[in-house]
Amino acid sequence: MSTLSPVASDYAIAISEEHEAFRKAVREFAEKEVAPVAQKIDRENQMDMRLVKRAAELGLFGIPFPEEYGGGSGDDLSLVLATEEIARFSAAFSAVVGATYLVSTPIFLFGNEEQKRKYLVPIAKGEKLAAHAMTEPGTGSDVAAIKTNAQKKGDRYVINGKKMFITNGDKADVFLIFARTSPIEGSKRHHGVTAFIAEKGMSGLTVGQRTEVIGLRGDQPVELVMENLEVPETNIVGEIGRGVRIALTCYDHGRVGVAAQGTGLAQAALEAALNYSTQRQTFDNYLLSYQQVQFKIAEMTAAVHTARLLTYWAATLTKKGKDFIKASSIAKIVATEAAEKNAHMAMLIMGAAGVSTDMQVERILRDSQIIKTYEGTNDIQRLTIMKEVAKEMGVVG
Ligand SMILES: Cc1cc2nc3c(=O)[nH]c(=O)nc-3n(C[C@H](O)[C@H](O)[C@H](O)COP(=O)(O)OP(=O)(O)OC[C@H]3O[C@@H](n4cnc5c(N)ncnc54)[C@H](O)[C@@H]3O)c2cc1C
Repeated sequence: MSTLSPVASDYAIAISEEHEAFRKAVREFAEKEVAPVAQKIDRENQMDMRLVKRAAELGLFGIPFPEEYGGGSGDDLSLVLATEEIARFSAAFSAVVGATYLVSTPIFLFGNEEQKRKYLVPIAKGEKLAAHAMTEPGTGSDVAAIKTNAQKKGDRYVINGKKMFITNGDKADVFLIFARTSPIEGSKRHHGVTAFIAEKGMSGLTVGQRTEVIGLRGDQPVELVMENLEVPETNIVGEIGRGVRIALTCYDHGRVGVAAQGTGLAQAALEAALNYSTQRQTFDNYLLSYQQVQFKIAEMTAAVHTARLLTYWAATLTKKGKDFIKASSIAKIVATEAAEKNAHMAMLIMGAAGVSTDMQVERILRDSQIIKTYEGTNDIQRLTIMKEVAKEMGVVG
């Protein structure tokens, strides 16, 4: 996907009737079952686990995987449609579902047949929840700098270290833990990290403190502590020492899902502003009659359509298996910032109701700060885009 010599067909977005029918079904679920509990989840900072059960029944944990692995044989586009519809009401709940894909996707792409049967199938069916453990107290963006280490002992590895900000860490049955199996050597700092599957209940694996963050309340991340956690060698995903490549490939896919969360939140803020401004009157006029409100609504509309188009475009490119790294970074930046912008504009339009914690708009603004941060901050996405452009130009990125 060239920046300097664009090819028109690279911009095609392929939405089928099946996609639309699936979107409708998820929308119905979201409107009937997620919307009524979304504010409660945020206020009480507690996930409603009935939703997780329902998502499993609807096949939302295995959308793009083949049926033989417990999936729905859909694609990344179906996954973003579902994510958008859910995040429109509860980004926190969409994060519970989304975080499992940060484990199932790498197992699907890099795991062996036995691992797919043992771990991917129950995760895809929603029978087991999963958590992806990369970030540590000392490092986030720079994944090669992790300190958690794994030492070989016979046919097992002994893992020691601490992870932080782990979504689903307190709910998961399966963990994908990244650890150093060899020290950083010169310029090859991305080598030497390995991905291990661990299971809840293994001795040496403890869920630590919850970290309170301003958004996605109901799905707050936790610490994970590994103290002589012994994992069988057979639980290594992919090649030893190539864990960073596995993680980065997984984030390339995952951030299209984060873009979908942004699109859903941006849409929700627009709907809230439209509803309010057609009901609220000041000085005998509806708010929507004022040009300053109309301009804001127009800008919010432009932001949500741009976010949606870029998200569907990036998802289409991942389906084609085309070079989608740059597209997914672009979609993540634009859609998550659309969520922030629309929430802020909705607040301005709605006056006190906009900042009231009884309404959903302030929640959207809080949630937008998290989605701008995780799976690579938006500034890290800017670096990724620049690296890809430099590669296209034949200059070292
Ligand atoms: C709610 C939540 C859930 C999360 N869930 C998970 C999870 O499930 N699993 C997991 O492993 N992690 C998870 N994370 C961690 C998340 O992925 C990291 O927070 C994120 O990657 C950023 O890392 P950091 O916070 O350490 O920031 P740092 O890496 O310390 O960066 C700090 C700031 O510096 C900027 N910066 C860093 N490097 C550069 C550079 N080279 N050039 C320019 N600017 C730079 C960043 O953009 C950022 O603004 C979660 C985080 C949150 C908040």
